[in-house]
Amino acid sequence: MKNDQIPVEKNELIDVTFEDLTHDGAGVAKINGYPLFVKGGLPGEKGQVKVVQAKKNYGFGRLMGLTKESPDRVAPPCPIFHRCGGCQLQHLSYEGQLAQKQKQVEETLARIGGITDVPVHPVIGMDEPWRYRNKSQVPIGEQKGHVVAGFFAERSHEIVDMESCIIQHEENDHVVRLVKELARKYGVRGYDDKTHKGTLRHVVVRQGKHTKEMMVVLVTKGKELANKKNIIQELRERIPNVKSIVQNINPKRTNVIFGEKTEVLWGEEVIYDYIGDIKFAISARSFYQVNPDQTKVLYEKALEYAQLTGKETVIDAYCGIGTISLFLAKEAKHVYGVEVVPEAVSDAQRNARLNHVENATFVIGEAEGVMPWWQAQGIRADVIVVDPPRKGCDENLLKTMVLMKPERIVYVSCNPASLARDLKYLTENGFEVKEVQPVDMFPQTGHIENVVALELKN
Ligand code: SAH
Repeated sequence: MKNDQIPVEKNELIDVTFEDLTHDGAGVAKINGYPLFVKGGLPGEKGQVKVVQAKKNYGFGRLMGLTKESPDRVAPPCPIFHRCGGCQLQHLSYEGQLAQKQKQVEETLARIGGITDVPVHPVIGMDEPWRYRNKSQVPIGEQKGHVVAGFFAERSHEIVDMESCIIQHEENDHVVRLVKELARKYGVRGYDDKTHKGTLRHVVVRQGKHTKEMMVVLVTKGKELANKKNIIQELRERIPNVKSIVQNINPKRTNVIFGEKTEVLWGEEVIYDYIGDIKFAISARSFYQVNPDQTKVLYEKALEYAQLTGKETVIDAYCGIGTISLFLAKEAKHVYGVEVVPEAVSDAQRNARLNHVENATFVIGEAEGVMPWWQAQGIRADVIVVDPPRKGCDENLLKTMVLMKPERIVYVSCNPASLARDLKYLTENGFEVKEVQPVDMFPQTGHIENVVALELKN
């Protein structure tokens, strides 16, 4: 029923104009100020919508038809775009996506962070915004006795079989198809997450963009894998650059991909890749950015904003496998990295040795715990770089940065909302935001990465 607050009701058909787009690609129409989220609608478009849910402060609708199309609308090239949850923006031209993301960053910084008078540069996009991902991770299942590999249909456990994903490197696609073919050929059962039966849960494929080295990870429920020898043999014969074939065992009822145990079936434990001229070893479970071309752009921006001259002590909080740290080390006096995952820290140390970097120290721990300890030891940072996960920086970390008073902070963020919240804290506590550079690491999706330069106010 309609009431004073809610101007629409379920199943009602209404004509709307779309004003905005959410980060997950839904069009936003306002009915007397009441926002209705509708998948498929683009800003400026008009159309008819059926209300499917009317909550107190917002509702959801289904797009029934458009009466006015946006000039930025394009035909999504992927045949399964409407069913797959991986991409959200294929129906918007790439220029449109970049403009939209820049606007979103500006608005989020203003709304949540109160930051309005800082330049948010145009998003740095890709020349070729397709087939950019270096890592493919695809769930495997079984339907009517037939192994399938694809994605989960929306709100269901049904896997929709997929032959190709056009934001993946071709080679990754090829290997996913090959693993599916071999599972069928050698009688490996696909995993069923409802009954917890079957063997093969996921295939994860990684490729070093510059070395072309490939890693294949077969994630299985238990240790056993039917016809393991034959499968390894065929993978070796049919993937020209395969360097590492790994089995990861995940016995749990969970949607987390990896289990604790990893065994090398053939070849090496890691593959290598370069970002710029720095070489990285990447193991099956390590975090490594998925868009190698744009990663270089992102790290170069971080380096530029750090304004290093060779004399600075730098802290890289949330350092992962040391990617940003090693990028900065060549132009700093010393870099201290801190990271909570122990394997990532050993990767970081290995990567430092691999590149003959001697002025970097890596420590295992929570950044919010290690930084005050460093401060107590008398370590003074001239520049602090943070690159936290989606939830942003811990408040204790922000407090410690304020106490440490570095000349500059470089904030790398994959979530504009937590970024805006943290920038608000920093600007209220002695720092000034100088500029914001969005980088499109994830074309066709709603995600956006940002690098922000901050300076200590006098
Ligand atoms: N800078 C790296 C990693 C960024 S991802 C790169 O660009 O590759 C964020 C990293 O923060 C992850 O490696 C994650 O394990 C780590 N992390 C998460 N919470 C943390 C915490 N409280 N303290 C330190 N590291 C943390």
